[in-house]
Order: sequence, then C-alpha cells, then structure tokens
Amino acid sequence: MSRVLSGFEPNEVFEFFEDICAIPHGSGNTKAISDYCVKFAKERSLTVYQDSLNNVIIKKPASEGYEKAEPVVLQGHLDMVCEKDSNVEFDFFTDSIQLKVDGDFISANGTTLGGDDGVAVAIALAILDDDSINHPPLEVVFTTDEETGMYGAAGLDTSLISAKRFINIDSEDEGVFTVGCAGGARVDIKLPINIEYADMTAYEVTVSGLKGGHSGTEINKGRLNANKILGEFLSGLSDNVLISKISGGSKDNAIPVSARCVVAFSGNIAEKAKNFEKQNRIATDNNLTVSVSKCISNIFCDLESSRKIIKLLCDLPYGVQSFSKDIDGLVETSLNLGIVKSNEKELSASLSVRSSKSLEKAELINKLTAIGESYGANVSVRGDYPAWEYRSNSPLREKMVSVFKEIYGKEPRIEIIHAGLECGLFGEKIKNIDAVSIGPDLFDIHTPRERLSISSLVRTYKYICSVLEALK
Ligand SMILES: [Zn+2]
Repeated sequence: MSRVLSGFEPNEVFEFFEDICAIPHGSGNTKAISDYCVKFAKERSLTVYQDSLNNVIIKKPASEGYEKAEPVVLQGHLDMVCEKDSNVEFDFFTDSIQLKVDGDFISANGTTLGGDDGVAVAIALAILDDDSINHPPLEVVFTTDEETGMYGAAGLDTSLISAKRFINIDSEDEGVFTVGCAGGARVDIKLPINIEYADMTAYEVTVSGLKGGHSGTEINKGRLNANKILGEFLSGLSDNVLISKISGGSKDNAIPVSARCVVAFSGNIAEKAKNFEKQNRIATDNNLTVSVSKCISNIFCDLESSRKIIKLLCDLPYGVQSFSKDIDGLVETSLNLGIVKSNEKELSASLSVRSSKSLEKAELINKLTAIGESYGANVSVRGDYPAWEYRSNSPLREKMVSVFKEIYGKEPRIEIIHAGLECGLFGEKIKNIDAVSIGPDLFDIHTPRERLSISSLVRTYKYICSVLEALK
C-alpha cells in the first residue's frame, strides 16, 4: 500500500491515522478497528480489555519518576459518521477511506474523513507507542457508536477505569477547551390515525429551501424548522383540510430543511402558498419556498385525525427554550422537531431535547408528554444522556491552561457547549471526574467536506504530550 501521509512528523501519529482510515469503521461496524487496537496493545505487552460492544481500554504503567502521579485517561471514540457525495461510489463496510493532502489539509475523496474521531485514536496510540514520553499511569479509553447515541460509553464497565482525570479528544477547535455540555434525550410521539377513502382533488405541498443545521450547536441561529412551517401553513388553510401522507426531516438531531404533505383542499391553495411564503421569509431563512402541485391520492386521514395532526404540529414547541443565567449567550434548553412521518396507522414525530440542567430537561419532556397525550398519542423517551456539568474547581483544567499558555503564549478559550459529549456519561458513572475536551482543528465534520489541519494535529499532539509530562 502506498502511503499518502508518509513524510509527515511525528511519523507515528500520521501512520496510525492512515491505518485507521484503511479500516472501515462506521458506527455499528467497529469490530475490525477495535481488534486493531487490541492487537496493537498485545504486540506491546500492554494490558488491554475489549468488551462485547467493541469498546477498548488499554493501560500503560507510569514512566520513571511518575509512579506516584494520579492516573490519566485519554479518551476518544472508534466509530465515524459515514456520509458521501451522491456521485461517489463508496461502500463504508468494505472500502478504505481514500486520503488526499492539499496544503495543510487532509481530507477524503468524496466521503467523510473520520478525523472525528480518528485523531483521538491516532494520538493515543502514538503516545502509547513512544516510551520516551513522560507520563502518569495511562488509561486509554476508546468507545464505540458515539455518533449514533453514545451506546459504547453507556454500556462500558467503568470499574475498569481508576483515573478521575479525563482528557477527551473529541473537540474540533484547537485552542478551545470544552468543560461542560448539555444532556439530551429523544422523544417519540406516535399518534394513531384513521384512514378513509375519498375522491377529492389532492395537492402535494412542499416546504423547502431552508438552511437547517445541527440541532444543538446551531439551534440559537433562529433558523426555521420545515416540519413546524408545514404545520403552520396547513393550519392557515381551513378547518376542513384532509391529510394524506406527510413526511419531513431525516434525523432528529438535524434541523429539517424540507417537509412535504399531500392534502385535499378546495380553494386557491397556490395563492395561499405564495402569501404564506412571503410572510414567513425571515433574514435567517430567506429562501423559504412553499410549492404546490396537483397529484393523485384517494386515501386520506379522516377529518378528526387530520385536525389532530395539524394542531399537534403547531402545538409542539421548537428551538431555544431558555438561556443560561451564568454564561452569556449559552443556550440552556432547546428542542428540535426533527422527523415527522405518517403511515396508514399513525403519525410519528421524533424530537431531540437538550439541556444543561437535568431538571429543565425533565420538565420539557413532561411538557411534550402532556401535549402528545392530550391528542391521544403514545409518547416514549429513548437515548437519554446526562449533562456534563461545569466544575468550578478543576485541577486538570488549571494545569492544562497553564501548559497551554506556556506553549501558545495565550489563554485558551473555555467553553460549555449545547451539544453532547461522552464526558457527561463518564461523569455520571465515575464520581468526581475532572474532564477537559480538546482536539485539533477539523472543519465540516460529518460531511464529505470534512478536513483536518495537519499543523494543528501536530501542535495538539505535542501539547497533549506536554500536559502529560506536567501531570506529575
Ligand atoms: Zn466525535
């Protein structure tokens, strides 16, 4: 195999990264990459654990003079998001990521790169591999299926971890330390509906042209939600609209960019669409389009079910619900109506709820449950994960800040984010955890445009080595 990243220093970091890219490792497909890490450990006679979820823990004793230092965890996730351009032939189960280098950037050929979170694995393996680095006892923790719901971390037996100090390498902004994050949950609302057969003029209504975005980090940008917009448009038509099929959004944690619905309506629906479009275009979403076209359908929800669907879509809250009182501009609680779809039996709506306060999260879930149940819907909650709460007293953060200032000659930015990180799950299972999340510059993660800054990876690796050396 000819190597694309040979020649970059430190050699090991780039070599391990290229190895990782050669092994297919999308979420749910982590056995091979997990085995690769186990083999790495065994070849170096390091203690290694692998569980049935493919999580891996590798331990390395302290280097000379660091025997009395408290142990440290280096942590990242083994799985990656699999996205590709529509014109690219690529099988994420069998194909190796095709790397390219352009200036300071490593990217893939029309697919996600998996720098999120392959860089954590490469950095940790390179540190384990190098006996010249000074460090406390090391516990390297690689989790699986972070991207689809943190299932690896949720199922990990944390009694195997003795360290309280966690360096999580799953952030994408060099010079930013993340020290807290929101918790979250998915809420599913299933509304039973009655179908009837009717011979009526049908139209397909499509809401499109919206910007969308990440339901956590971009929820404060005031962007429109296609599912909500569709509900509002339908509610403005008349009380006698019949709904046939409805669908909008594809992921509960992405703000939906489009939604469509087949309706029966007698009146000038095209004109109503034009007016609605004009009234609802806003600065953050000035390309909102509501288009209408005639279509054929003879199956509709009955009037009662149709009214319930429209009212439910309008009643469900969306977006920022509250801001933090302690940190300026930080969203505390939010939600996103990510997916709406119907079949002949029910309408289902999936929402992603986030909050840095567990009480507010519980209250919002209760509110959604009450709304759903008032329409006779069944409401369930899954994938609940805790917030990672900010620690005002954090010796690890203080040490990392002081090493950062020494090397970079400036202060790092300390942030709490409105998105999920595994530190919350570890914090729930391990008492008094002291964690900081960092990482090299990565751009457009989770998309085929994902790219990793080479110089930033090199600096981040050296910085982490310096932190370990300072944690005596
Ligand atoms: Zn990640």
